[in-house]
Amino acid sequence: MRISIIGTGYVGTVTGACFAHLGNEVICVDVDPKRVESINRGVPPIYEEGLDELLKAHAGKNLSATLDYDYAVSNSDVSFICVPTPTDESGKIDLRFVREASRSIGERLKAKDSYHVVVVKSTVVPQTTQEVVTPILEETSGKKAGLDFGVGMNPEFLREGKAVHDFMHPDRIVIGGDDPKALGIIKGLYAGYTCPILEVDTKTAEMIKYVSNAFLATKISFSNEVGNICKRLGIDTYKVMEGVGLDARISPYFLNSGLGFGGSCFPKDVKALIGKASEIDYEPILLKTVLKVNDNQPHMLMSLLKKHVPDLKDKRIAVLGLAFKNDTDDIRESRAIHVIGSLLAEGASVVAYDPMATERMKRVYPNIEYAKSADEALEGADACVIATEWAEFKKLDSFKSMRKPVVIDGRRMVDPRGKGIIYEGLCW
Ligand code: NAD
Repeated sequence: MRISIIGTGYVGTVTGACFAHLGNEVICVDVDPKRVESINRGVPPIYEEGLDELLKAHAGKNLSATLDYDYAVSNSDVSFICVPTPTDESGKIDLRFVREASRSIGERLKAKDSYHVVVVKSTVVPQTTQEVVTPILEETSGKKAGLDFGVGMNPEFLREGKAVHDFMHPDRIVIGGDDPKALGIIKGLYAGYTCPILEVDTKTAEMIKYVSNAFLATKISFSNEVGNICKRLGIDTYKVMEGVGLDARISPYFLNSGLGFGGSCFPKDVKALIGKASEIDYEPILLKTVLKVNDNQPHMLMSLLKKHVPDLKDKRIAVLGLAFKNDTDDIRESRAIHVIGSLLAEGASVVAYDPMATERMKRVYPNIEYAKSADEALEGADACVIATEWAEFKKLDSFKSMRKPVVIDGRRMVDPRGKGIIYEGLCW
């Protein structure tokens, strides 16, 4: 199949590279010339395990990138929209990129004779495909959906850092469509997959994505609330959740308490679902609380730090971990951003370290110090905060090089208690 991918971020680049690997002809489109040039050189514009090898194998062969919608749409049969869907200032979904991409595709569809399917892969609130994307495509192309072209919705569930693996080995594939021809074509793209494939209408497909993320975010905030209670009772919350997670109805995943969730999806998707609910006159009390618990965890970490270093002014504080989670260079909504902001507001001097995300964090905080290793960051520090669960932090053994060995662990990475180190776990 000939596929065009609109937007080459985490989802688009991975989707394009994996579809190319499955034997399709793939053309990626972006508005950012640097991304286009990078993909054509076979170099991933973002870090994802295994993506480098896929791009090297397929760029210049059955995978290319372009700024030219005309070329991409006329030389493909299916277009996947993979552009960002941030939240606006009021917390509702901002569909400006989806509208723009839909307009650009529609304008090219006008001149196209053959049938084309447009698939929304971006995370969009229920009814968006039907009420926003399809009307724009019809208006700009002058054609009729379900007749001259097809529209579908195929949400993406990949985990950043493991995105290539997850695309190739998903738990399930959800395909939304209101027209059998389009549904059949999208389903054909996943012909070799053995996982369950759920066929639903577009608004159900859109809702499945939000509910999945909202449920996982709820598990995390629930675990953090339990952790906050356990810490005060002197109970090990990790043991509690191990016992709880062994219940097959609950599962052991997403039960680690700590600094909370960040990233490009959970915070914005929960906000967008709240925004959609308020639009239809429903107050989602539970979802609002999920965000409230999450927002509170960095403040709790700061309180613990101040218990041991009451005056942070001019103190050198090492922040270990900047990415929103391990194995990615993505810092969107990273808890470390909040922690660093609070430290700077208190007058502390911050020295930060992350194995992958330093360059991205420099755009947010250009004036803090960045260390080349965790050991270097710890040297002479008055306290250290662990904000991301990088595996390398588990082996840290250089806390003694700190001026004052205070370790506040937001991710349960180390346990140097009994080694002359002041240690506080956020929820343990
Ligand atoms: P991203 O910000 O990493 O990349 C988006 C890309 O789209 C950028 O390269 C940008 O230049 C490009 N773009 C913007 N407007 C464009 C236009 N009009 N035409 C062509 N290209 C355009 O975004 P992402 O993280 O890949 O997320 C994309 C969508 O997928 C979002 O809706 C997100 O919620 C969803 N999603 C993301 C993840 C994830 O883990 N990142 C997982 C599942 C779903």
